[in-house]
Amino acid sequence: MKIMKFGGTSVGKPERMHQVAELITKDEESKIVVLSALSGTTNTLVNISDALAEGDKKKAKKLIDDLENHYTSFIGELLKKDELKSKAVKIIAEHFEFLNIILRISFSDALNKDILAQGELMSTKLFSIYLEEINVDHLLLPALEFMRIDGNDEPDLKSIKSSLATLLKKNSNKKIFVTQGYICKNKRGEVDNLKRGGSDYTASLIAAAANASVCEIWTDIDGMHNNDPRIVKKTKPIEILSFDEAAELAYFGAKILHPTCIWPAQQSHVPVKLLNTMQPEAKGTTIQDNVETTGAKAVAAKDGIVAIKIKSSRMLLAYGFLRKVFEVFEKYRTPIDMITTSEVAVSLTIDDTNHLKNIIKELEPFGTVEVDKDQTIVSIVGNLIAEEKDMLNKIFKSIKDIPVRMISYGGSRHNVSFLIQDKYKNEMLLAVNKGVFGM
Ligand code: ASP
Ligand code: MG
Repeated sequence: MKIMKFGGTSVGKPERMHQVAELITKDEESKIVVLSALSGTTNTLVNISDALAEGDKKKAKKLIDDLENHYTSFIGELLKKDELKSKAVKIIAEHFEFLNIILRISFSDALNKDILAQGELMSTKLFSIYLEEINVDHLLLPALEFMRIDGNDEPDLKSIKSSLATLLKKNSNKKIFVTQGYICKNKRGEVDNLKRGGSDYTASLIAAAANASVCEIWTDIDGMHNNDPRIVKKTKPIEILSFDEAAELAYFGAKILHPTCIWPAQQSHVPVKLLNTMQPEAKGTTIQDNVETTGAKAVAAKDGIVAIKIKSSRMLLAYGFLRKVFEVFEKYRTPIDMITTSEVAVSLTIDDTNHLKNIIKELEPFGTVEVDKDQTIVSIVGNLIAEEKDMLNKIFKSIKDIPVRMISYGGSRHNVSFLIQDKYKNEMLLAVNKGVFGM
């Protein structure tokens, strides 16, 4: 059993959806196909929800109507047979009927989740009708029947596993299953989701639950690159990464993979493949358990970082100081990314600034607090990179003109991270490309 996940752009145009059908029928292995919403749909649904939350029904109505028109023309190009076209029109109409009904009822968080779920529900139903048109035997497996999150909004893998096993057993005569990414049910039994971009997470969870042979994530780029192709011209796809390397890269800003997506597959030792729908023959990137290669593999950058420095003479020879500082961040559920300390000061970074004001207020009794906004973490990642002879020398030499605010080395053996001002990011990525990757 393998998992094949296709993102919004891979199903965002009728011809792309046709291509997806081709890709899933290339081999005989049984598979679960996970689809995102058509590109742009979830954003529109968010906008509809926001408009309703603000009480702007006129705006919401206009967004709903425009989206409906988009689906109508999509169906026109997706399908050929008239009877299937009318079937699709009827099914999509039900979803828009729902969206039009909510214009009349009072807005709530649960309703918001229902609105957001429409995208994946529609994309999978349309795809299923297209498979019917080209006579591909398959089964639409409703994610709401097996994807679960617990009271902490964390996936309940045990329950997912048993529900999925039951469904698969009941339909053991089928070889192709199609299901929705992103959506799930929560502990209260309501429709919920795995947060924006969560379809990768769905795929990884299903891969773990079904003990899949591989979890394929199909997008529109040929795998993970060693540098950001939007900024640096000369980049190359990375063929093999370990789970640890991939997690660090995803976390530190490589856009291709949702950071949380990694752990279920990793825990269950299912390799993850990043593949390109536009170039299906390309090798892409395989993420797996054991990787022999060592040294610098890629660099990634994460913007919108805020650095906070707490300086206090009371820190001198004191214990318990860091604990008090950390407790403030814990209280506001704000993760710390990087941290460096000196004898009288500690600097750390966060990217979630929702509670920045309160955090600063609570840190002030400990000493002088300084805040630097508009920072970027640039992280150079690779198996055992920290142990590579000459690596630091190479990095420092290549970035000698860039002012560095913080350095993190030795936290993990797989990464060296720098905190710099946003405005130096492009220069730094280019410099590292040259100095470390020799490109
Ligand atoms: N459709 C959802 C989103 O755009 C989930 C996903 O695409 O992964 O966030
Ligand atoms: Mg999407």
